Amino acid sequence: MINGTRLTKSAIRWGMVGGGKGSQIGYVHRSAALRDGYFDLKAGAFDLDPDRGRAFGVDLGLDPDRCYPDYGAMFAAESARPDGIRCVTVATPNNTHYPITRAALLAGLHVICEKPLTFTTAEALDLQAIAAERGLVVGVTYGYSGHQMIEEAARLVADGTLGEIRIVNLQFAHGFHSQAVEGDSPATRWRVDPAFAGPSYVLGDLATHPLYIAGVICPDLRIKRLLCSRQSFVASRAPLEDNATVLMEYDTGAVGTCWTSAVNAGAMHSQKVRVVGSKGSIEWWDEHPNQLRLEIQGEPARLLDRGMPYLHPQALADDRIGAGHPEGLFDAWANLHYRFALAIEAHEDRDPSGVAGLRYPGIAAGVEGVRWVEHCVRSADAGGVWVDYA
Ligand code: NAD
Repeated sequence: MINGTRLTKSAIRWGMVGGGKGSQIGYVHRSAALRDGYFDLKAGAFDLDPDRGRAFGVDLGLDPDRCYPDYGAMFAAESARPDGIRCVTVATPNNTHYPITRAALLAGLHVICEKPLTFTTAEALDLQAIAAERGLVVGVTYGYSGHQMIEEAARLVADGTLGEIRIVNLQFAHGFHSQAVEGDSPATRWRVDPAFAGPSYVLGDLATHPLYIAGVICPDLRIKRLLCSRQSFVASRAPLEDNATVLMEYDTGAVGTCWTSAVNAGAMHSQKVRVVGSKGSIEWWDEHPNQLRLEIQGEPARLLDRGMPYLHPQALADDRIGAGHPEGLFDAWANLHYRFALAIEAHEDRDPSGVAGLRYPGIAAGVEGVRWVEHCVRSADAGGVWVDYA
């Protein structure tokens, strides 16, 4: 049970790049990192506009001298301070993740980076190599994976309740961009511009979330090959897709599908993960994250609830308030951030084996998301053909 007691020796001095005033995800990062006292916000280069970024940092209560005009200035100045930051969060548009994360690692900082980690697998592998060489943690904010019922789903697969896994059905298909809303929304505009978003829109922005969750639930499945078809229903978004369907074959003989969309008109998030085994199935939906549906063939379907004693112990470990009181996305993100903090401390103590069993989306998850998108785009742009997964 989480009750606000910090499990690390000290709060990690922490900075942010991006996540400035009016940004979509900056507040979620601060809320998650600061919630249980694991991180202590000391510095920031919050905004492309230096004056606005500085004013925002001062409003947050930071020392004005530690509100920097850009990330380069921040890393240089903070490295020179005895009380400089130890970790930085990168919450900027996708095109900047690679250079900022790389510079941070080279400055000796642990990084929490937004997804998709980079544009290319080669870039992601470069970050992985630098982090490994320097003993630094890179956390990637697949935030939904911090929901506790994901842990229960993983246990039900691991203990054989579902039998042999046959089918994985993934979906993240919202309707908020059914029209060309990017005309009025800067945060949507960069998402449909390859210069800022990278080689994909919804595949990287949305589908990588359930993809990561599926990997947590079914860690033994390896994609053997995949086929992707992608569309730009709002034509001005081409070459970036606002809708895509992916077929996957795993090396166990299991199969998977993923539908991702921003034009699923009328839908809210519609992020769902369904895993079908030879004996039964589970289904989790991010709009009802406190429940997990368990269906055993021949028995009535069951709706398992977060916080209940019938769950596996691992699914109860991060409970904050007990069953019946709903927990949400902010709690899930905070769950990931305390794990990031534990991992960072273990790496600083040069004892990463101490957190070997700790599940959090790290650099390998970041690499995998980018690799998957790259394969999807290659398949789709070749006319929707099977491509071997390498
Ligand atoms: P946004 O456009 O709303 O905000 C981006 C912020 O970054 C702004 O404050 C902008 O001024 C600042 N910025 C841009 N370039 C900068 C730079 N070089 N230095 C300093 N600040 C800079 O974008 P957003 O929707 O918040 O998305 C940011 C990132 O978060 C994206 O990679 C996106 O994919 C990701 N995201 C992830 C989730 C999730 O669930 N994990 C949800 C939303 C967004």
